[in-house]
Amino acid sequence: MTDGITALKTALPSTAWTQDADIIAPHLVEWRDKYQGETPLMLTPRSTAEVAQAVKICAAHGLKIVPQGGNTGLVGGQTPQGEVLLSLKKMTTIRDVDATNNAMIVEAGATLQSVHDAADKVGRKFPLFLASQGSCTIGGNLSTNAGGNHVLKYGTTKDLVFGVEAVLASGEIYNGLTSLRKDNTGYDLSRLFLGAEGTLGIITAASLKLFPKAGYTQRVITAAENPSKALALLEHCRAGGRLGMFEVMPHIGFNAVVSNMPGQRDPFDTPHPWYVVIDWDVETEAEGAALAETLLGTAFEKDLILNAVIAQNETQAAQILSIRENMSAGQKFLGGSIKFDITVPLNRIPDFFKKADAAMNTQIPGCRPVGFGHFGDGNIHYNIAQPIDMKKQDFLDQWQAVSETVFDLVGEFGGSISAEHGIGIMKKADLARRADPVKLAMLKSIKQALDPHNMMNPRVMI
Ligand SMILES: Cc1cc2nc3c(=O)[nH]c(=O)nc-3n(C[C@H](O)[C@H](O)[C@H](O)COP(=O)(O)OP(=O)(O)OC[C@H]3O[C@@H](n4cnc5c(N)ncnc54)[C@H](O)[C@@H]3O)c2cc1C
Repeated sequence: MTDGITALKTALPSTAWTQDADIIAPHLVEWRDKYQGETPLMLTPRSTAEVAQAVKICAAHGLKIVPQGGNTGLVGGQTPQGEVLLSLKKMTTIRDVDATNNAMIVEAGATLQSVHDAADKVGRKFPLFLASQGSCTIGGNLSTNAGGNHVLKYGTTKDLVFGVEAVLASGEIYNGLTSLRKDNTGYDLSRLFLGAEGTLGIITAASLKLFPKAGYTQRVITAAENPSKALALLEHCRAGGRLGMFEVMPHIGFNAVVSNMPGQRDPFDTPHPWYVVIDWDVETEAEGAALAETLLGTAFEKDLILNAVIAQNETQAAQILSIRENMSAGQKFLGGSIKFDITVPLNRIPDFFKKADAAMNTQIPGCRPVGFGHFGDGNIHYNIAQPIDMKKQDFLDQWQAVSETVFDLVGEFGGSISAEHGIGIMKKADLARRADPVKLAMLKSIKQALDPHNMMNPRVMI
């Protein structure tokens, strides 16, 4: 170990590594404060060549590596426990923007926001939108196959990528930076790295797909009686093929945000059981207003909604979305929370809520389900807030038992235990116990083929 660390420090420029505890400290804790890490050395390479050089030295000395982007991951995959930490934070170059081909090549450490800005400059958009976009990086987005608010229209990150450049465990550089829309020349190797959580190699750059920008995005917030009505509303709002976002929040979570968080306000005069934030991508503001009025008017007539507010300008639209984006943070006002990121087939969401809520209340009487999220693509952050009169730690101690109940139900409903956050450390044991054995064996074979000495993010996923 010491020899390897010395070799890295000797071979790499002094700008490409640090052992300064103050600089490293923020990289060893994560957003939820659930994992605390340690590392003997943080590498901060500035180029793919430096990443490759570092990986070769690590391979020669048997050192393991944990790659890190913006450190916004929610399953503990980016937190080293004694491994070398390789941060991509200095690799932020936008290498090329090609509006004609609707393509962009960016380095892995570029933040998602900087990618949005670069696309915007040429009148295009990169349609991945997450509340963490100011900090999360493209490398992290690809490695977790991030989802976000627009999956129902554009798919997950996997659908937004032509290919990647990655440094393999051998230190070799795989160059998949194509922007060809057709290329049938064997396995799609770039895709192996998407959702791999850093277990197969280090993504150093990516060729991304760009899309035309909508002329105007019309946002509304509606109130609904229950998830069944929300599901019917989703179908109603799809008319005309303009639907860009459909996010759902229950009153308890919505109220925790608007009542406690600075700058937040309730757009309605009275409380409602559920809320839905909806976007339609249209050409003009006038078209947006007309579409919203027509669809919401008929939704009222069909008894699908209880109330609605149509955003009149960008500020109001941003305020509405901000409530949804703060749902996770706002939950801290409800005490301890046990959190899940599950997906079930769309048409089964209402039944899932009914069954899961009942099971939760049997298991921990008085607990408060806060299921919110990307309803439009079937992904619910099915979180449970503690009973008011229970000690926080006593509640959190039941995380595993609650997981068993929730994941059993997810299985029964034909869903997935990880919709968009990945497996990381957090769900590794659950995946091992619950995944199809054939799938697990294939995952392990691919890992063995590309990383035979288990050097890349060795503790996560499988
Ligand atoms: C407020 C908030 C809102 C969020 N909303 C969403 C959401 O709507 N949808 C969603 O999907 N996620 C969401 N997330 C989770 C998170 O932002 C995403 O998972 C994001 O893609 C992680 O990017 P990152 O750069 O921060 O990666 P990190 O946290 O640094 O790393 C995540 C994983 O990717 C690996 N990794 C990182 N970079 C590389 C690389 N270059 N090569 C190989 N492996 C790498 C790490 O080892 C780790 O396993 C949210 C998080 C927060 C804090």
